[in-house]
Amino acid sequence: MSILIDGKAVSLGIKESLRERIAAIKDAGKRIPCLAVIIVGDNPASRSYVRGKIKAAEFTGMDSRLIELQEEVSEESLIQTISGLNADSGVDGILVQLPLPRHINEDRVLDAILPAKDVDGFHPANVANLWLGRPCFVPCTPQGIIRLIESTGEPIEGKRAVVVGRSNIVGKPVAKLLLDRNATVTIAHSRTPRLAELTREADILVAAVGRAGVIKGDMVKPGAIVIDVGINRTEDGHLTGDVDFASTSEVAGWITPVPGGVGPMTIAMLMENTYSAWNSEAGR
Ligand code: NAP
Repeated sequence: MSILIDGKAVSLGIKESLRERIAAIKDAGKRIPCLAVIIVGDNPASRSYVRGKIKAAEFTGMDSRLIELQEEVSEESLIQTISGLNADSGVDGILVQLPLPRHINEDRVLDAILPAKDVDGFHPANVANLWLGRPCFVPCTPQGIIRLIESTGEPIEGKRAVVVGRSNIVGKPVAKLLLDRNATVTIAHSRTPRLAELTREADILVAAVGRAGVIKGDMVKPGAIVIDVGINRTEDGHLTGDVDFASTSEVAGWITPVPGGVGPMTIAMLMENTYSAWNSEAGR
């Protein structure tokens, strides 16, 4: 039976540490970090994610601004809002909740965020710097995944890592972060033949697919660290991951639950990135 990697507990520790640092900033009479979150429209999942981010900011004691825009807002007006926040010295981090309505070009919107305030790490300047190994904002979910792997105490260096999924927000950046830590990394995707043969070689297996139960116990190497990024909704409304928990937890050494694994870490990393943005602003 595998050991559960408790993302809730790890993320709580990170947020508590931030809360102490932010209290000290307050006590010193300095301006505290501030995160601005923009949400467009009424998508219930987006609303719930945004609520979680604002709640976490409140927990750490940092300031937050929630900017709610109508579904029909024009791309130009959204970009103007971002420009205002870029120029506002009281705002350290800017996050635009995705997805955006279809009439808005997501790339143009993300490109409008000042890279120094891009706490989601999606601006092309941050993506380029990540791949060049230069200082940057690392996207929150991949960074949270690494912290969960590190929480096992197992070294990443020298391990065989397989990442299933090659999206720009999870698969590719997490593969780069594993490579940076000297894992030998393979990225699999929907066109990968004989997926199970690959995943069975993985000491570290990251599933970021978006399909319930795509990874089953017989696809996992005994003792492996299994990180389940997937968020899928079952017919009865429950959340479930990409990993079949029942069969995989019989084989893996460590496993993350869904919910309570990667999800809370994504939010904790957003708080850390906002603190770093404040720190580099304060240090300038
Ligand atoms: P995405 O953009 O849809 O990418 C999914 C990837 O999975 C693609 O690369 C796709 O391959 C690959 N894939 C699809 N079916 C496959 C199969 N049968 N075998 C192997 N690979 C397959 O998704 P994403 O944005 O990376 O998100 C992945 C999951 O993580 C989703 O459930 C999402 O909700 C969740 N997520 C969670 C968090 C969190 O905070 N917990 C954050 C972000 C995302 P192709 O490239 O060939 O199409």
